[in-house]
Amino acid sequence: MLDRPLVFVDLETTGATAHFDRITEIGVVEVDRGKYAGEWSSLVNPQVRIPPNIQSLTGINDAMVADAPTFEELAPDLISRLEGKVLVAHNARFDHGFLRNEFRRLGYQYTPKVLCTVKLSRRLYPHERRHNLDSLIERHGLSCDNRHRALADARVLWEFTQHIYHELGGEIVQEIADKLLSDPALPSGLPSDAMNGLPDAPGVYIFYGENDVVLYVGKSANLRTRVMSHFSGDHSTSKDMHISRDIRRLDWVETAGDFGASIKEAQLVKRLAPMHNRRLRETKEACTYHWDPVDGPTVPRLLKAADIDMSLLGHLYGTFRSRRAARTALKSLADEYGLCLILLGLEKGKGPCFAHQLRKCRGACIGRETILNHAMRVSLALSKLRISPWPYQDKITVRERHPVTGRSEMHVIDRWCYLGAANTQSDLFDQYETRRERSFDADTYKLLKSALKKSGKNLEIIESGNS
Ligand SMILES: [Zn+2]
Repeated sequence: MLDRPLVFVDLETTGATAHFDRITEIGVVEVDRGKYAGEWSSLVNPQVRIPPNIQSLTGINDAMVADAPTFEELAPDLISRLEGKVLVAHNARFDHGFLRNEFRRLGYQYTPKVLCTVKLSRRLYPHERRHNLDSLIERHGLSCDNRHRALADARVLWEFTQHIYHELGGEIVQEIADKLLSDPALPSGLPSDAMNGLPDAPGVYIFYGENDVVLYVGKSANLRTRVMSHFSGDHSTSKDMHISRDIRRLDWVETAGDFGASIKEAQLVKRLAPMHNRRLRETKEACTYHWDPVDGPTVPRLLKAADIDMSLLGHLYGTFRSRRAARTALKSLADEYGLCLILLGLEKGKGPCFAHQLRKCRGACIGRETILNHAMRVSLALSKLRISPWPYQDKITVRERHPVTGRSEMHVIDRWCYLGAANTQSDLFDQYETRRERSFDADTYKLLKSALKKSGKNLEIIESGNS
């Protein structure tokens, strides 16, 4: 490691996301072939306000950076200072991501070799739990006169490097550093063999953090490529930035194809409620309208998705994330079709309804339109929201087969409810598969509906009785 030119870098910023947040201070210690070769530091005007919590952490406030140069002004000098040298930083993907983004905005390419001192510490002291900068300072008796200021923190990293050379010997440090330099993409919290066995095949992956907190669940047609892409990017999304910082282990389930992967992803997200999955998260409030003017309720009635009796299929309309969203959707249909708010159950009392006063309702509430005619128009208005009737006689089995790996899986589905895999090979998935039969789920419905349309060579539908 010390046989090449190094720059120990630390940045202070306005936040954690390289894409949105900006640099407020840069500290650089230059080392050439093991010898201190100078240092440099500057405050940077981020051209945005610094959030109060960041101000109190770093001690850098808006007034201090008001007259400082902008990154653009510093960039030509800075790039010549950094270019061709190994970037050494603590949790280096953070500093690397910020520098790369700032330089890219100005049209510079900055693609250094990167060495992370968190990873270095983890590899050299695997029995230690904590590898943040404060822990390193305490453990190794390092000195720091101004924590959370860029140059002071960069100096600590240089001191740490000298310290491990003396404590462990140059050979072992060199060996580990060389390994890290040739394998820069893995987050610091992951063991070096975390990717072993990750296949180039479809499936679902799960990222865990400290204490096995579930961070994220995703799916892909190629597990290996997709998982790597979370880590190898420049962390322009805060999601990938947080995942890379917090991940401690990962797990995956190989599937026969995209259908199985999509189903498992949706199910795992609902069961595990990962921190960084917004989409597919379960909403207890999910609901749908039941409307059947012949022998059902006289007004469209809201049913909780989990309570839906699937025999009502054909008379169910819309999948909404909340009662409020459902009522808003019905209200806009009323506007569009001139329906009566009282007869839709959106307004209480006797007519004329508010919409009629605005000349929108055609007057079913005061006898100007027959109830039957109104009901027919409600059916028409709702029709585009209708949840499709189940197109099969009975439950079906979907067999998915991977054209290359030959892996095959069977999924049992009845009336848009996923009942499970008929031959689940993975213990992992079984573990989460607490049966919740017949509960309607809007995401699963949409997924099944589009998948069943695409059935073909790799996705075969076997109807019950024919199998
Ligand atoms: Zn009315």
